[in-house]
Amino acid sequence: MSNPEITLILVKPDAVAEGLTGEVLRRLEKEGLKILNCRMLRLDAALLKEHYSHLAQLPFFPEIEKFMSSGPVVAVALQGTNAIERVRELLGPTDSSKAPKGTIRGDLGKDKMHNVLHASDSHETAKTELIRFFGKADPRV
Ligand code: ADP
Repeated sequence: MSNPEITLILVKPDAVAEGLTGEVLRRLEKEGLKILNCRMLRLDAALLKEHYSHLAQLPFFPEIEKFMSSGPVVAVALQGTNAIERVRELLGPTDSSKAPKGTIRGDLGKDKMHNVLHASDSHETAKTELIRFFGKADPRV
């Protein structure tokens, strides 16, 4: 594998509740991404503040907190060539209503907030987020 990387995704609570976890993972596995680790959890207030600290000052932050704690999420560590950028490409832009068809958000998401998945957006955030959700940057079992 050239330039192997590990990235972190969170399947958001509405997508988990609607039974989209399998479809999301199928799409990512079909593109060659390998599941290294996986867990289901509820995001509490402390974890949410940490995870979305870059948005904490925005007016809609309380709404994000409410949404992201409304049910369990599925956290997955994925490995593949250029995995961080590749997963973001397959995911599409933040606003699902504007995301191109063929992307995960374009096909399965609803709007700016309800956009199916979180995915790490840089090497630095991938490392931080893998440690946040799995305790280490390389969380293979
Ligand atoms: P991304 O998830 O694409 O990396 P951000 O880090 O900017 O995007 O935002 C984190 C999450 O906050 C988004 O995935 C989405 O759920 C929510 N969000 C971002 N911008 C908005 C907005 N303008 N209105 C409502 N929710 C938003």
